[in-house]
Amino acid sequence: MAEFDVDLFVIGGGSGGVRAARIAAGHGARVMVAEEYRMGGTCVIRGCVPKKLFVLGSHVHQEIEDAAGFGWTIPQATFDWPTLIVNKDKEIARLEAAYTANVEKSGAQIVKSRAVFEEPHTLLLADGRKVTAKYVLIATGGRPNHGAEIPGIEHVISSDEAFHLPQLPKRVVVQGGGYIALEFACIFAGYGSDVTLVYRGDNILRGFDDDVRAHVRKEVEKRGITVITGCTIDKVEKHGNEFTSHLSGGSSLASDRVMFAIGRHPNVANLGLEKAGVAINPKNGGIATDGWSKTSVPHIYAIGDVTHRVNLTPVAIREGHAFADTVFGERPVEVDHSNIPTAVFSQPEVGTVGLSETDARAKFSHVDIYKAEFRPIKATMSGRDTRVLMKLVVDGTTDRVLGCHIVGDAAAEIIQAVAIAVKMKATKADFDATMALHPTAAEELVTMRTPTARHVRQAAE
Ligand code: FAD
Ligand code: NDP
Repeated sequence: MAEFDVDLFVIGGGSGGVRAARIAAGHGARVMVAEEYRMGGTCVIRGCVPKKLFVLGSHVHQEIEDAAGFGWTIPQATFDWPTLIVNKDKEIARLEAAYTANVEKSGAQIVKSRAVFEEPHTLLLADGRKVTAKYVLIATGGRPNHGAEIPGIEHVISSDEAFHLPQLPKRVVVQGGGYIALEFACIFAGYGSDVTLVYRGDNILRGFDDDVRAHVRKEVEKRGITVITGCTIDKVEKHGNEFTSHLSGGSSLASDRVMFAIGRHPNVANLGLEKAGVAINPKNGGIATDGWSKTSVPHIYAIGDVTHRVNLTPVAIREGHAFADTVFGERPVEVDHSNIPTAVFSQPEVGTVGLSETDARAKFSHVDIYKAEFRPIKATMSGRDTRVLMKLVVDGTTDRVLGCHIVGDAAAEIIQAVAIAVKMKATKADFDATMALHPTAAEELVTMRTPTARHVRQAAE
């Protein structure tokens, strides 16, 4: 008789857990996956996928406005939020079923239940059943940070609820200056809401290249979003269907919804981690791991958002795959977290890979900047007041391209391809040797010849 009920118990059926379960089962392991909510996890159920569907729909408004310059007369368009929600939910249900089917096809077994540690090798399910496992993978993801317990916090929604609003709010106040705040501010504005973004720092998208931050702010303001920086929402009051957000500076904002998008916390609470002896990383509150995603307990691994390393779906998937190959495939794989491309699906989009100018200057003694800001060809006919930003950060000593930053239509699509070159350590000369593709915005990346800035650090600095 086998010593353990299963070879691998995966806690969490999200992006990372599902990939790990399928690959481990493919390597011949007996696998069980526990999911307490819906298979697919954050990305599929209340993250990337429904968000992208919302984004795509919100672009239509602008397309209709831009059409006039190309000769189109389009009758007054109307928008129905409940139709969007119903169709989005249908697609999410289809994807959830596909995720379930794929896991089952791999031979892994799904249990629709919360699972917590009872002992290092024993998991407790919600119905009291106990399952013993040789290895355990913690892939429990994260959840919205609701912030401090300010008065009226119960009136505030997060992105989880934003996906299920019964009606499009006419006026929305969004707090936060990161990915979700910016994406949802643009989603609501795209569908016609009057949006105010409240951010505590001096400019949105902290951590991104400073030129990108300034450019995006200008662009979203041009599209009618009010950006208030340097303050927080300290109190929210509800009067009937209206909410009043009181700002730290003393002013207040009336709206029909208040949404906070102020980061996410790794799901580590009430998992029985202390019973298993799994240590938390004191720097970020996630589960501490080594480069192979092994925790402080040799048979327990952790991947994805619960480790709070890089909270992106492809990263969780890559980490899950690497774990399964390492432990069950006799092929140790360490995930390389450098040069991960990322996009903010705002309007206009941000696409970025590699180092910002500030980070490059801190690390390299000679940094060249190539920057172009221009009116996209479509705007010449639509009349839209918008500009594209393209920026390359180059190591002036080796000529290697260290970073690429784009703000403009299709930035996400462009940056995925540029990321291959950056990952391959392409030089600026390689970019220059690449023939331009005309007429595109992306051709600018291979035609910028003269640095717009050159930063050379003196030896004594
Ligand atoms: P998750 O996908 O969160 O899966 C964890 C699963 O574990 C959940 O299903 C949860 O129910 C389950 N669970 C938790 N505890 C237990 C337990 N004790 N027992 C059983 N089950 C449990 N990333 C991108 O790359 N691109 C994007 O465009 C993007 N957009 C996003 C938009 C939003 C609004 C949000 C919130 C996130 C977005 N992300 C995006 C981030 C992305 O969704 C996450 O990085 C990714 O889902 C992490 O995968 P994971 O497997 O680590 O965790
Ligand atoms: P982010 O970390 O991107 O942004 C959080 C924002 O909230 C920051 O502007 C932060 O300010 C602010 N903030 C944090 N705490 C407080 C507070 N107590 N009061 C006021 N403001 C606060 O988190 P998100 O919630 O936007 O998204 C979570 C993660 O999900 C992202 O980091 C990303 O990894 C992933 N994601 C990826 C997407 C994509 O790939 N397109 C889309 C959506 C999410 P400050 O900068 O000053 O710290």
